[in-house]
Amino acid sequence: MSEQKRVYRFGTDAQGNDVTEGGASMKFALGGKGANLAEMCRIGLPVPGGFTITCQTCVEYSGAGNVWPEGTLDEIDAATRDLEHRQGKSLGDPHDPLLVSVRSGAPFSMPGMMDTVLNLGLNDDSVQGLIEQTKNPHFAWDSYRRFIQMFSNVVLGIDSDYFENALTEKRMVAGVKSDSELTAEQLKELVCEFREIAAEHISADEHPELVIEGKAVFPTDPELQLKLAIEAVFGSWMNERACIYRKANGISDDLGTAVNVQVMVYGNKGETSATGVAFTRNPADGTREFYGDFLIDAQGEDVVAGIRNTEPISDLKIKPVFAQAGEQLESIFGILENHYRDMCDIEFTIEQGKLYMLQTRVGKRTASAALKIAIDMVGEGLISREEAVSRIDPAQLDQLLHPQFDTGSDIEVLARGLNASPGAAVGAIVFSSEDAVAAADEGRPVILVRWETNPDDLKGMVAAEGILTSHGGKTSHAAVIARGMGAPCVCGVESFSIDAANKEVRVDGADIVLHEGDIISIDGTSGIVVLGAVDLVSPELTGDLETILGWADTIRMDSSKGTPNRVRVNADNPADAKLALEFGAEAIGLCRTEHMFLGDRKNIIQSFILTDDEQVKAKALEDLLRVQTDDFLQMFRTMDGRDVVVRLIDPPLHEFLDDPRELEVAIAKREVEGAPADELEALRKRLRDIDGMVESNPMLGLRGVRLSIVYPDLPLMQVRAIATAAARLKRDEGLNPHPEVLVPLVAIAQEHVQTRAVIERVVAEVAEEFGIRLDIPVGTMFELPRACMVADAIAEHSDFFSFGTNDLTQTTFGFSRDDAEAKFIPIYLHKKILESNPFETIDDVVVELVKMAVDKSRATKDGLMCGVCGEHGGDPASIMKLFNVAGVDYVSCSPYRVPVARLAAAQAKLEAEQGFSTQDK
Ligand code: ADP
Ligand code: MG
Ligand code: MG
Repeated sequence: MSEQKRVYRFGTDAQGNDVTEGGASMKFALGGKGANLAEMCRIGLPVPGGFTITCQTCVEYSGAGNVWPEGTLDEIDAATRDLEHRQGKSLGDPHDPLLVSVRSGAPFSMPGMMDTVLNLGLNDDSVQGLIEQTKNPHFAWDSYRRFIQMFSNVVLGIDSDYFENALTEKRMVAGVKSDSELTAEQLKELVCEFREIAAEHISADEHPELVIEGKAVFPTDPELQLKLAIEAVFGSWMNERACIYRKANGISDDLGTAVNVQVMVYGNKGETSATGVAFTRNPADGTREFYGDFLIDAQGEDVVAGIRNTEPISDLKIKPVFAQAGEQLESIFGILENHYRDMCDIEFTIEQGKLYMLQTRVGKRTASAALKIAIDMVGEGLISREEAVSRIDPAQLDQLLHPQFDTGSDIEVLARGLNASPGAAVGAIVFSSEDAVAAADEGRPVILVRWETNPDDLKGMVAAEGILTSHGGKTSHAAVIARGMGAPCVCGVESFSIDAANKEVRVDGADIVLHEGDIISIDGTSGIVVLGAVDLVSPELTGDLETILGWADTIRMDSSKGTPNRVRVNADNPADAKLALEFGAEAIGLCRTEHMFLGDRKNIIQSFILTDDEQVKAKALEDLLRVQTDDFLQMFRTMDGRDVVVRLIDPPLHEFLDDPRELEVAIAKREVEGAPADELEALRKRLRDIDGMVESNPMLGLRGVRLSIVYPDLPLMQVRAIATAAARLKRDEGLNPHPEVLVPLVAIAQEHVQTRAVIERVVAEVAEEFGIRLDIPVGTMFELPRACMVADAIAEHSDFFSFGTNDLTQTTFGFSRDDAEAKFIPIYLHKKILESNPFETIDDVVVELVKMAVDKSRATKDGLMCGVCGEHGGDPASIMKLFNVAGVDYVSCSPYRVPVARLAAAQAKLEAEQGFSTQDK
């Protein structure tokens, strides 16, 4: 017998006393749904009773190849008997049956991913009990037929269409439009037909326990129904769509799902009953208003499925039969917000006027809603500024930095829908997820256009740039998933008549038919659809985003609590530098100089590399000096008064030369064309020279500081350009430039010492030439493990350290990034050899190397500035480790990541000081 407790009760006992065992803090055991059901019971909200089977049970069950851990079935059995006792009803009772729902619920919410069975416990006997109790045969038979359909689909894996077709046929024969118009007698017939359909399609191999006298039948024993349903929920954890969702959202496969068994309440008991979903604030823009929909005389997922038209939650109170429940619901919104101190998302059912809460959780929201809600809640005194900052998911900020329609461009609106998920997208129309995935594989941007999406569309939704649906509201599947992914979505575009089979859309009112491949633009912020490609623009930092980032800056720069967590930018042209300043970067952490040799300058550098003639070389250097001085002038002017770390030339020189294969082809072509012999010979010499420079392993070859040692002319020219630009600005324009020189790929202290001596000599020469003082610090770039090991020796001769963590990751693992990401990292992730891609989120051992070097440097030279300039500088999880574990002073990232880094840097500070945990996935 295991000692572990696997089943937790929630709700009241027969006397009405609360017997709840779990609570909100237990979501890793009870799943989010189970933990919050327990919490709602604790705070006295009306929740139908039940029990939760733990996530760990699911993990063990799946791990053992779908075998129950010992003793678990007994524990479930005891909990079931206990629930029967608490309710005063028993499963399968022909006079007053207990019916339950079997609901999945993982530690992190996975909307629409896992499957739920309602009305479990019905059979030919217990349905009579339900009629006896409710005096409502229509309701009883309707519940029964829903149960057979759901159970068959979720547990027995039978396609729902078989049942839907039978239902449609029944309606046609009866001459009615909606299911609720069918008579009790007709529903009863339908139940018989449904059972036959089920029997016909049950796989006897997969369900030997359902075989009676050689034939598989629909299970009538409620205990067996319950066991099979729980097994199906556990099994659904590993179904394809659940796995895809977890992958897209970075949720571990190892958490498992809990199962909640809960007493049924009925929203389908006629005109005084209803079911609905709601948010305590608007999840799209954060406005403080009740938001959601309800559906009268309906059950379960009818609201989300967009089957019938829903009514807005604000109308609930207006209807006399729901007035009381509506009032109560509003007061519960308030209770939940105060309790969770956050916006909540709710499922409820009203059974004959009485309100029941079926689910709550901290609600998902768009990035702009997240900002507004956090700021409003600070204003309402519900949370502190620190909490507000710690709640915003830095990765989600990306949404706000998404492109928008250029308001300057002429926009002719083709259609309007609901603004379900913000951001704009342009792409070709596709009508199926398969087509979306195929297009994405080819790198073609597409908009997925659907009547409504369902969980099977997930792959396509991930692949598409944006999503458009013609049906469904703001809580429809498409809207919820798109908001979670940060993908632009416009839903409920009613003027789109979609014919997916023929891959066409007729646009009512516009007299247009669109076809697959036609380009459209959608704006999920406004709900507008436009024919053709609209120009997109990047948004500015304004309003709420600026407020939160302002608070974040105060937190991360507060020097009364340790050294500030600084944010710099990687920028190598004035436009990027300017943008980065607007985004709040403090300085340039990395200015690469490679691009200064490209474009129309490629000829100059090529003539330098490929000639033996000293005069030609000297002329090339002179030309380069001139253009590079101009480049630096512009950069330093833009960044006046701020540090600009300029890295000396880094890549192997042949990267600036023609591709030898292309050159070979060109020579062959000129030969055929009969080019003169001397031209051909010149081309062939060029090819030989280029071939002579090819290295067998350029990544580990003649690059970085090694170039400065072997061919000092180029880096010397660069230092001269840097120093000259600075001197001119200082002397002639009275500005205050702060260039710093970074020496790349150092492994050995002597490399740095000798290079530094040369740099200092050039700087001194320029200073003398201009007759001013020039102070240009020289720092070291750490990209090799050896350098980290001798960081103390390097520190003696270095003014600052910058960690190039992309290369440091390559050289620590011995992975070449391009090959690794294309060929084996996906396999490593799949086999769980690696937990995450070390080029996206920094590896702990690489962090250790950085920390070692930082510690050694500080032991040698107190206060030596250490920063990170790899792409990890823009990744929130890496930022946390780099500040809090490695102890660096700043991270430097690309301009668009600067706002993300500012927020993450503040959260790192909060986590280090106060143990605020940043928001859950
Ligand atoms: P999901 O995680 O997909 O939202 P749920 O377990 O919440 O799945 O259930 C699906 C639907 O069934 C929801 O609308 C929920 O409100 C409804 N439901 C679940 N349990 C009950 C119950 N005991 N009584 C009435 N409706 C229920
Ligand atoms: Mg569901
Ligand atoms: Mg739910």
